[in-house]
Amino acid sequence: MRALPLFHDLHSRLCLVVGDGDAASRKAAVLEAVGARVVRCASVEDLDGVALVVIAETSKAVAQRAFDLCRARGIPVNAVDRPRYCTVTWPAIIDRDPVTIAIGTSGAAPTLARLLRARIERAVPASIATVARLGETWRARAKAALTTPASRLRFWERFFDGPVAEAALAGDGAEADRRARALLAGADAQPRGKVHLVGAGPGDPELLTLRALRLIQSADVIVHDRLVSDEVLAFARADALRIYVGKRRANHCVPQQDINALLVEHARAGKRVVRLKGGDPFVFGRGGEEIEALLEADVDCDVTPGITAATGCAAYAGIPLTHRDHAQACIFVTGHLKDGRLDLNWDVLARARQTLAIYMGIVSLPELSRQLIAHRLPGSTPAAVVIDGTRPTQRVIAGTLASLPALAASADASRPALVLIGDAVGVALPARTWSMAAE
Ligand code: SAH
Repeated sequence: MRALPLFHDLHSRLCLVVGDGDAASRKAAVLEAVGARVVRCASVEDLDGVALVVIAETSKAVAQRAFDLCRARGIPVNAVDRPRYCTVTWPAIIDRDPVTIAIGTSGAAPTLARLLRARIERAVPASIATVARLGETWRARAKAALTTPASRLRFWERFFDGPVAEAALAGDGAEADRRARALLAGADAQPRGKVHLVGAGPGDPELLTLRALRLIQSADVIVHDRLVSDEVLAFARADALRIYVGKRRANHCVPQQDINALLVEHARAGKRVVRLKGGDPFVFGRGGEEIEALLEADVDCDVTPGITAATGCAAYAGIPLTHRDHAQACIFVTGHLKDGRLDLNWDVLARARQTLAIYMGIVSLPELSRQLIAHRLPGSTPAAVVIDGTRPTQRVIAGTLASLPALAASADASRPALVLIGDAVGVALPARTWSMAAE
């Protein structure tokens, strides 16, 4: 972050708007709307008592002088479309008084800020102002009645996202008041914690479900794996406790029982716990074991599915998993070695007209290839490995069942990689890239 956004109280303060023209008039109007005393002038002479200077459409010399004077006096100065002469930038603003949303790009891309504003305006209804004002009338009462920060947080979250807000939005002030009183009366009770097993998808944060996003944003505690991308974790609250329990192949850092115990402990302390797993929790994610342990400990829990590596990698690599002409089935299988061996039903896997999606298969790829060919799957069958699927670093290595082990031999075995084998893998469709970069 290059600059700190702060909301500036300019009520009754003196602000200079230098220059004339439309931009100057627009800035003056906004400053007047927040209660500032605005003086328009052609150049800066006297800066006594001035809280802010805005420069619009003046010559460079006038702008330079105004900037120098302001900087010498420590007075914030903003110049329209001239980042060089700014100590503060003017954000794109959404005004839903008392809710104000300001978007800045540190001067890098003002047009982008305006586009973002249009998107956020669509997402934040004008009626949010009504709800915010209702909240204002309850602040003092909530503060007096609720003793701990956690109970206050809970109260406000339910206040703004439940029947109170709904009644206020529907214009029923009396009902909103009744609901708020009931909420306040019950808010100090120790809540029952809960564990949500949440699929974080294969990496690209745009592949999160809406529910996953909501749960991540409201979690008190997030227990996550190595496969969960930083961009997904960034949605967590700044004050959420994050616990990393990542595992690497054959090198489990936190034993499964300890993870289970951790989840139980935080839920019993009344926390909202999100157990965040790469992909889908029920696809090679040991989600079933964790749910069993939680039920046994009488802890409330539920599961939110995620996009699993097979579907994520397939879509981003342009490889259909099924295809009317090539594959009538798709098998998700683990290539994880048990005691150094692959214990799989080769007769079932080596059939034609199906796609194999092999998780954790990069290390065992030579053995996989050898066994499938020995069980009469043609060595010419198309095969690919997708490394870091759906991430900016995604790499696809394509070949055949016979050639892939050699082609993939140099791949970094510490990166997640999915092996795809079958005739449908030969159908090369356009690949897509990480959405953050594409938009
Ligand atoms: N629950 C996860 C799978 C966990 S097992 C899911 O549903 O996707 C871990 C394996 O998943 C990795 O070894 C790799 O084979 C695969 N995997 C997970 N994320 C991946 C990604 N972004 N790209 C490629 N493979 C991935």
